[in-house]
Amino acid sequence: MTPHLNAPSVTETTTPAKRQWLYPRVVKGRFYRWRTAVAWVFLAALFSGPFLSYNGQPLFLFNVLERKFNIFGVTFWPQDFYLVAIGLLAFIVFIALFTVVYGRVFCGWACPQTVFLEMVFRKIEIWIEGDSNARRRLDAAPWTTDKILKKSAKYSIFFLISFAISNTFLAYIIGKDALLTIITDNPANHVGGLSIILLFTGVFYTVFAYVREYVCTTICPYGRLQSVLLDKQSVMVAYDDVRGEPRGKLVKNEELRMKNMVETDYSSFLTLHSSLNKKGDCIDCKLCVQVCPTGIDIRKGTQMECVNCTLCIDACDDIMDKIDRPRGLIRYDSLEGIQTRQPWRMTRRMMGYSVVLVLLMSVWGFLLWTRSDLDTTLLRAPGQLYQREAERGPGGGLISNLYLIELVNKTHKEKPVSFRVDYPGATLRMVQPLTKAPADELTKGMFFILLPEKNIHEVSTKLTVEVVSDGVVVDRVKTTFLGPVN
Ligand code: SF4
Ligand code: SF4
Repeated sequence: MTPHLNAPSVTETTTPAKRQWLYPRVVKGRFYRWRTAVAWVFLAALFSGPFLSYNGQPLFLFNVLERKFNIFGVTFWPQDFYLVAIGLLAFIVFIALFTVVYGRVFCGWACPQTVFLEMVFRKIEIWIEGDSNARRRLDAAPWTTDKILKKSAKYSIFFLISFAISNTFLAYIIGKDALLTIITDNPANHVGGLSIILLFTGVFYTVFAYVREYVCTTICPYGRLQSVLLDKQSVMVAYDDVRGEPRGKLVKNEELRMKNMVETDYSSFLTLHSSLNKKGDCIDCKLCVQVCPTGIDIRKGTQMECVNCTLCIDACDDIMDKIDRPRGLIRYDSLEGIQTRQPWRMTRRMMGYSVVLVLLMSVWGFLLWTRSDLDTTLLRAPGQLYQREAERGPGGGLISNLYLIELVNKTHKEKPVSFRVDYPGATLRMVQPLTKAPADELTKGMFFILLPEKNIHEVSTKLTVEVVSDGVVVDRVKTTFLGPVN
């Protein structure tokens, strides 16, 4: 059987119409240990993210309600939307490139669904109910006191963890202080907030207690994209059918039998010898299938349900150790690598994605680097043309236009500000004093720009307003000035 040769990179889903509850067997190997370590780092980062601060600001905040975002303590305002859009574009290309090259590594190692299900909820389930067969027996057994106790303990812990995830999730959106207020204040004052916490608790609980692998095999759009993104050079968890097939049960004491046969029954010896020589390394023990959390047989080729969790690698490596064959019958490799035995190489598609990614990242980095601390929006006061001033300047009569200015101080420090106009003879007169921009705030002001009438040569004169802070021009805004033409 050579499932990889003619099969497409990713076969269509084989999920049966009726749900079959899975009882994956426990397996521990080197990949599992590495994944556990990565999961601990991931969980520590996820649960501490919204509660840590940098420069008095939350490390991470995605307040879509107030349109305020903090990433690594840097505050992003709606004015920085172009940065978010470019960052999002780069992220999508990055995901595509990463998947083309490394397949679904993200799913197995860093996807919150896999991390929580396999490293938190599944471990608790195994701790309370036991390994595969014990869990299967318990589910089939009648409702005894033991079963009721085990099931209530398991689902109560599941609920508490879902509650903790829900609170953390909300802290990412509204911030830790607002979350603390909701939890500690009179519940009657926070019916909306508490309902959201309970709603998300219910969603997480349902996902991790019941929906489980269906999220990966049926719901998640990223999983569905695999058939488009993966090709024969993509690295993935794959079964080496060249080495493994034809599979067959291991016959115990084969060598001893053969030794005896050489002397007693030479023709039977030759038949057995030739059949053994034709056998691949897979002994059809089906351990790789029994440990799979999505219930598939990796030996049928790469399938959309495979989340690259590496459990089948650990299971098969363990078997290979026991039968004294080299590890890696199931391993990280590309389909082409398995068929041709050639080392991995970069394809044109990968190079194309890489170039686009580098370009996008460079643009994004440049924009981020040159992002001004003070963001200015300047508008001429609506519905107004120009006024002739009573006072006269050195060059004769003065014409004025009224402007509205908005300043966003994106830093966490108050900034002194002043304004000047870059145009010959122009002066600026504030309506109310505006000398400082408070930290992390939007400040509004109004001012007139005055031009000597003799300097106006067009109906709409283009000029630039400079925002100065600590003697440095921090922003330049172009605007127009309306006036009579001489
Ligand atoms: S664990 Fe390895 S040897 Fe056993 S059935 Fe799977 S591929 Fe074959
Ligand atoms: S086939 Fe292997 S890597 Fe894929 S989901 Fe199953 S156990 Fe995990």
